[in-house]
Amino acid sequence: MADYLVRIIAKEAGVRAFACVTTGLVQEATQRHQASLVAGVALGRTLTGAALLGALLKVQQRVALKYEGNGPLQKVLAEADSYGRVRGYVNVPTVDLPLVNEQVDLESAIGRAGLLTVVKDLRLKEMVESVTPLVASDFNQDLQLYFDQSEQIATAVQVGEVLDETGQLVAAGGLLIQELPAQGQAGVVAALQERLQELPPVADLLAEGQSPEAVLALVFAGMPYEVLEQRPLRFACDCSWDRTRQALATLGAAEIAHLLETEGEAVVHCHYCHEAYYFNQFELEVLLTELSANT
Ligand SMILES: [Zn+2]
Repeated sequence: MADYLVRIIAKEAGVRAFACVTTGLVQEATQRHQASLVAGVALGRTLTGAALLGALLKVQQRVALKYEGNGPLQKVLAEADSYGRVRGYVNVPTVDLPLVNEQVDLESAIGRAGLLTVVKDLRLKEMVESVTPLVASDFNQDLQLYFDQSEQIATAVQVGEVLDETGQLVAAGGLLIQELPAQGQAGVVAALQERLQELPPVADLLAEGQSPEAVLALVFAGMPYEVLEQRPLRFACDCSWDRTRQALATLGAAEIAHLLETEGEAVVHCHYCHEAYYFNQFELEVLLTELSANT
């Protein structure tokens, strides 16, 4: 199943919902960053959360989800736009922790004390930023707390994954249910959230081969709704050699001269996608000439 997100609306109930499968993009991100088991799960949940938040955006808007804690992962960040493009990274992808009750130990990895910051670029003058404390350090209940505390609208959210016994990713995905502004009936989201909790986790259903549409059909059983859209999701980064060169230039002439002397070349990895950009001696010399001419 390729990654995608499906969007539905239940007009009478005044609710909209999204379900998504993100297995491919989580796998790609984990491979790109050579993330350990626990780092890959943390990154995967953050990417899925960003994809769901991205579905709430309008054209050209962007959202970033940043988990920071006192654990060894330090920071996990993912960004998404309204077109289904998602990218992200984990600060220390090599963190390796033993399983606890056969579960990946996310709590120890990100740490008990920490913050979730959600930044929205709504194309206004200022970014919209909200910070909530980590409540479970599981990248799932923490996201729910963000909606409960920061968004003034009833929302239920779930992100997760299924791993096989060797730690390979079988399925990743999530679901978001939200009251429509000024149209929602009191208690509908809470009732749907209860039903969601009675069902197996969304990722388990996906791992069984159920589609995001089928997952929504289970949650919304008996409630009329309309499928509005199916949108592909993918891991995508807008980095390039030229952009990396601009970033390299900000190091300044002295630093570039030092690089030339010591390394003779430079390899710069994009933070978000770990793509490697190579600068040979000639390219560094040209950059140094430009920088020296401007000072
Ligand atoms: Zn990149």
